[in-house]
Amino acid sequence: MELLAQWGLLDEVLATGCPPLTELSFTAPGIRVEGTVPADGDARMVCAPRRYALDEVLARGAVRAGAEFRQGVSVTGLHWEDGAVAGVTCRASDGRPSVERARLVIGADGRRSTVARLVGAPYTRWDGRLTRAWYTYWSGVDGASLRLFLGKGVGGTAIPTHDGLTLINVQFSVDHPLGARSERDRLYLDLLARAAPELREAVAEGRREDRLYCCGDLPNFFRRPTGPGWALVGDAAHHKDPLGAQGIADAFEQAALLDQCLADGQCDGRRGGLGDRERTAAALARYATALESRFAAPYEENLRHARLAESEQQTAGLRVALDDPPFREGFLRTLSGAPGKQNEVS
Ligand SMILES: Cc1cc2nc3c(=O)[nH]c(=O)nc-3n(C[C@H](O)[C@H](O)[C@H](O)COP(=O)(O)OP(=O)(O)OC[C@H]3O[C@@H](n4cnc5c(N)ncnc54)[C@H](O)[C@@H]3O)c2cc1C
Repeated sequence: MELLAQWGLLDEVLATGCPPLTELSFTAPGIRVEGTVPADGDARMVCAPRRYALDEVLARGAVRAGAEFRQGVSVTGLHWEDGAVAGVTCRASDGRPSVERARLVIGADGRRSTVARLVGAPYTRWDGRLTRAWYTYWSGVDGASLRLFLGKGVGGTAIPTHDGLTLINVQFSVDHPLGARSERDRLYLDLLARAAPELREAVAEGRREDRLYCCGDLPNFFRRPTGPGWALVGDAAHHKDPLGAQGIADAFEQAALLDQCLADGQCDGRRGGLGDRERTAAALARYATALESRFAAPYEENLRHARLAESEQQTAGLRVALDDPPFREGFLRTLSGAPGKQNEVS
């Protein structure tokens, strides 16, 4: 939220009709924490815009900042010169191919990144898939807060989004039996009942407004994020289980980090600094180091939660710790993704 505000895009995101949420809660067996969203800057809120709305705001912002945006163009290959990436080959939606030269190619193309595959970026850490995420959208579910819940072997989130709908995401171990496809709706509701009985009751009064989305490809990894003429940002560089709901914030932070490293290294593309290979390589090396040190600890913590195996002893420990106001504040910060102190609750 802070970065959207800094980029001058927060008002536009809210203007899409996505409700700003200032309250959040966390429930686990014997635990209920409620509070307001803490923040260092002005954006004392979280929100969950649908991607069709968020992506459009981001693309418009990029164009205003000088980017040329081409909808429906796929990167299909890389153009190499002297052992460095020097551009991409693309295919437009009408099938027309083209080659684009570039001094730096940034793969911000998701966890199945084409750029990462084409440069052969190795995994520097791989922890496999731990959970499945099943989610859908409900009307008639009251509550204007971000709700996170954890039960035995299941966790999830409920977040109000556009059009009066509430997104309810349920996550459970990849080892959990799935049963027949026709049983999936029932399994989703049973898991919700196990982790968040109040929400299960609320959806019984509400109405499901979309199909059930079942996502099982949620690996946990870091890839080598840079090389000659290329860099990776967002899920392409580092993917984590979405249980902590941090992926978009992390992608924003990484974009800002890369930008900062290039600016610090005087590699501003518009001033031609990217043409200096050594300077660019040094800036990219700084980005790779900063990315690892910023995201390693929150990754570990997220991994621990995504195992969905908190013992009763750990839950009891958390219950006691939450009586301590500074701990509680740190806990709320972590849940809301407030910047800078994510791992203070580990
Ligand atoms: C079930 C689920 C729930 C989640 N919940 C949350 C949440 O509540 N909060 C949160 O912050 N995060 C959440 N995430 C994570 C979040 O969606 C990602 O971390 C985030 O979208 C990463 O952004 P990105 O830009 O790196 O990648 P993406 O959002 O995947 O964007 C990649 C873009 O690249 C494009 N692309 C891919 N290949 C090519 C190509 N060859 N040529 C051209 N374009 C290409 C794609 O079309 C896409 O537009 C969730 C993820 C899942 C799966």
